[in-house]
Amino acid sequence: MSVIDRLMRSLDPLHGLPVATHQEFARWYRQAKLPQIRSVAFLTTVLYFIYAAIEQRVAPDHHDLRLLVHGVLVPLALLAVGLMSFYEGAQRWMLVLLGVAPVSAVIANLGFNAGNPDFAHFVPELYLNLMWTFTVSGLTLRQALVTASISVLVLLAVTLAGVMQAVVEQLHFLWILAAFSFGLLCGLVMEKAHKVMFLHQSQLALSASLDGLTGLWNRVRIDQFFAEEIARAQRYDTPFSVILLDIDHFKLVNDQHGHAVGDSVLRQFARLLRDNVRSIDKVGRLGGEEFLIILPEIDATQARAAAITLQERIRQFDFDTVLRKTASFGITQFCGDESPQGMLDRADRALYKAKENGRDRIEVH
Ligand code: GH3
Ligand code: MG
Ligand code: MG
Repeated sequence: MSVIDRLMRSLDPLHGLPVATHQEFARWYRQAKLPQIRSVAFLTTVLYFIYAAIEQRVAPDHHDLRLLVHGVLVPLALLAVGLMSFYEGAQRWMLVLLGVAPVSAVIANLGFNAGNPDFAHFVPELYLNLMWTFTVSGLTLRQALVTASISVLVLLAVTLAGVMQAVVEQLHFLWILAAFSFGLLCGLVMEKAHKVMFLHQSQLALSASLDGLTGLWNRVRIDQFFAEEIARAQRYDTPFSVILLDIDHFKLVNDQHGHAVGDSVLRQFARLLRDNVRSIDKVGRLGGEEFLIILPEIDATQARAAAITLQERIRQFDFDTVLRKTASFGITQFCGDESPQGMLDRADRALYKAKENGRDRIEVH
């Protein structure tokens, strides 16, 4: 990795990773942020109610309009954000509203207060708004940067137009700079932390799904694939099949050559399976020397053809120390409206028949 890449990776832990990982992160981030968005929307609503009540007593003018904006419109927008967070289809619009709301609040504040002698009392809303956008809103760093930048541009445009009191102006610039830079820094640090957390979690999820010895999918994960495939086949009315395989006389390998050689044969056998199926097929180790292959969109006849190829490859392969091994195959096709266990039992009966009929055989049930 070049120095530039390493520097980029230290700033952005996802730098250089495939687009699919970035998309996965975006989905994960949105999902992870929903509870925050809900609670922040609720707290901000309450704070705006309090703000609206105080404002009624201290503001010099525009009382009705202020009440309408801070006591009704902003709380309604936040309530909508909170509700939209519950519906997946509305979440895109929720983010739009979340981005538009702070800019609207800045414009309203400036509209009400820019010319007032007491402007300084109302300015903190603007600085807090910038921090809020970056740190608690739940927007991604990029979205927050766009929203906060627009807010700052509006703020500067109004300030430079000279509607502000001169005494407030210099400090006003400082606090804009402070709020924006602290906000951006927090946003950067938090986004980096989220990316690191996402990568750790993905790593953990993957290792919890793999069989430690062979690197194939483990029993838990293959059961999930199985359930997903059944749901898909039922929904789209497509066929799918499974191949259950068991290495013949595997106990002899352990007995004659030791457990280490047995493990090595299992690893080689697993690789042989993985290298000789389609990329959409799922290969798992159910336990011991028994394996399951899920073949989407394939009927029993096609699955049998796939098994014949595998059988040939296994017969011809030189395994570590033991050289030649064979396996027995049980095949079955999904026949609609059945549980994974029902289908597995059928494949098991086919496998049992293959063993009974002399091993190194393929049986379809
Ligand atoms: P069959 O042809 O009827 O399948 O006979 P088999 O000897 O293959 O079947 P059996 O069920 O009698 O023996 C399976 C053996 O697999 C027994 C067990 O010691 C061995 N085994 C299970 N898991 C592992 C493992 O992780 N590593 C090794 N080396 N051996 C294992
Ligand atoms: Mg066996
Ligand atoms: Mg067995």
